[in-house]
Amino acid sequence: MAVTAKTRREVIARDESFCGWCGLYVDTASGQYSLQHRRARGMGGSKRMSTDLHANLVLLHGTGTTGCHGYIEAHRDEARERGFNLTQQLDPAAIPIGLKVHGVPAWALFDNLAGRRFITETAAFELLEQYGLAA
Ligand SMILES: [Zn+2]
Repeated sequence: MAVTAKTRREVIARDESFCGWCGLYVDTASGQYSLQHRRARGMGGSKRMSTDLHANLVLLHGTGTTGCHGYIEAHRDEARERGFNLTQQLDPAAIPIGLKVHGVPAWALFDNLAGRRFITETAAFELLEQYGLAA
């Protein structure tokens, strides 16, 4: 399995070409971006269909070692508290993600149809706590 071209286009459109971590514009035409897997592909994850679907993916600056994506990989605790670093037993569609949208912090739930539903910070923290991800 891999992220299909269609899913890639839909995730970029859902995220409005803004980086989920820093909220700044991503010039996707430059190729200097990546779609992060919130729940890693490793440890058997690559065989699960949901791994390469929309709820598990978020547009970021950089690669796994550079830019915002690199920052997330190097700061796993901070990433976990914002829903960017999920363990294998978690369903990405159930876990809120702490985005920045046009630079403004905003919590959202993703679905696997390229949907993005904003929720309150209170609701997001309740979910994070329920799943053991709260700070
Ligand atoms: Zn960024």
